[in-house]
Amino acid sequence: MLKNRLIKEFLNDIGIEKEELEIVKCLESEADNDEDIASKTNIKINTVRKVLYKLHDSGLATYKRSKNPETNWYTYAWTFNKPKVKTEIKHKHDAKIIQLETKLEYEQNNMFFICPKDKVRFDFNTISLPSRSTKGKNNEKETGSSSNAFKCPNCGTELEFQDNDKIIKSIEKEIQKTEKAFENFQKKF
Ligand SMILES: [Zn+2]
Repeated sequence: MLKNRLIKEFLNDIGIEKEELEIVKCLESEADNDEDIASKTNIKINTVRKVLYKLHDSGLATYKRSKNPETNWYTYAWTFNKPKVKTEIKHKHDAKIIQLETKLEYEQNNMFFICPKDKVRFDFNTISLPSRSTKGKNNEKETGSSSNAFKCPNCGTELEFQDNDKIIKSIEKEIQKTEKAFENFQKKF
């Protein structure tokens, strides 16, 4: 399970370090207590506890508390909450797809211009058209179509049209890749 990229990414998101994945691995197979995990993984008990609480805070691990009748100490048997991991990864996936599709739509529905000098990119809607005089017809004639080139609002350089086909293709590819990774994840878990 931990070999899956989406799960690894997700555990990384909640702050589990690479070397701490061994702890999660222990929980995956069976309920276990912190001391057992520490001795199995050779990871310090404090780190084991820290990771367990992190998992617990994110709802990814649950524990059962029981009292040892001889010592009167409590022990905690931890388990990995697999269904929760699945829901969380699904949420993350959905959010990513929405974000990519919004981006794609924006690229498809807009025209883009770039300033050759400072490389800043503008969409058609954010470019302010050359200011038009309100004084009279004569002035309006002066700002004829040839002098109507879009200027960079930052430096005044004439903007160049940017073909965004490559950007659109790369977003489409990213969507396909994301969907495929999620399909693979769903097949396995
Ligand atoms: Zn500029």
